[in-house]
Amino acid sequence: MDPIRIAIVGMGKIARDQHLPAILGDEAFSLAATVSPLAEQTVAGVPHRASLDALLADGPAVDAIALCTPPQVRYDLAAQALARGIHVFLEKPPGATLAEVDALKSQAAETGVTLFAAWHSRFAAGVAPARSWLAERRIDSVSIVWREDVRVWHPGQAWIWQPGGLGVFDPGINALSIATHILPRPFFLRAGTLAIPANRAAPIAADLTFCDTAGMTIHVDLDWRQTGPQRWDIVVETDAGTCTLSNGGAVLTLPGSADHGEDREYSGLYAHFATLVSTCRSEIDTRPLKLVADVFLRARRESVEAFND
Ligand code: NAP
Repeated sequence: MDPIRIAIVGMGKIARDQHLPAILGDEAFSLAATVSPLAEQTVAGVPHRASLDALLADGPAVDAIALCTPPQVRYDLAAQALARGIHVFLEKPPGATLAEVDALKSQAAETGVTLFAAWHSRFAAGVAPARSWLAERRIDSVSIVWREDVRVWHPGQAWIWQPGGLGVFDPGINALSIATHILPRPFFLRAGTLAIPANRAAPIAADLTFCDTAGMTIHVDLDWRQTGPQRWDIVVETDAGTCTLSNGGAVLTLPGSADHGEDREYSGLYAHFATLVSTCRSEIDTRPLKLVADVFLRARRESVEAFND
């Protein structure tokens, strides 16, 4: 089968760190073009355009695009591509609102084009084995701690603090994408507090209590003010002992064993996207975004010290 000709749209941090090497390392794809406003965000030997409009007007033909822009601009770009019969890989979160993602889902279904709302953390090495192990256990409680230094991981990213940028939920939604995948029952917010810097529109920290349909509690602690050791941990207490996913899902520790699996999040995502395209299917799971939207609906807001980069 011919490789899928793909363009990366939004040549920022994640496109360079992960999408480029994953595409270049997968023979199911050929990198047909890059799209980004700045001329210096190019890849040697690969056609570049400053906008999707320009790519569609006079660029090389593409079968698919990977949308790696900030979420606030994704809908228009995705809708434009789907309307042209171009398959779309959406970086997480799949959009700035749930309704726009629903609209894309309907559009993809009507046109028969693949839409993939990717949740990269679900492809971390420990997640699939954790899910299988937990399926056979009684789960008593869950604690999620996602504490990182925003100055290290998101330097100068203005969009992340603006409405639709999610603030601390930009990484925190990764934890929720894993939790919705490995836990057996739906869960929902009971109570929460958002800490919002006085000069920003989005939270820098969140303390949340969720509960599932059997009454099991899931505590979530997100904080972008962490210095020193960084933490991306999910600890699940069960009737057979503790299951710990650390390093964002990469390391799984079960009673009596620890497994540091190989990092293949983005190679796994692209292999899955290729399968979806070749079988004419879409995959759009909005549960993690729904939980975040519910937090914005239901949690108490506290104004905290202004944050400057
Ligand atoms: P970023 O470094 O700010 O990159 C975003 C890129 O999109 C920039 O190059 C930006 O160009 C470009 N862009 C903005 N509007 C565009 C448009 N209309 N058409 C084409 N390009 C456009 O952000 P990032 O960290 O890569 O994050 C992007 C997405 O990936 C976010 O949804 C984030 O949640 C997700 N993600 C990030 C990471 C991570 O570690 N950073 C990990 C996983 C997922 P300008 O700079 O010129 O505006």
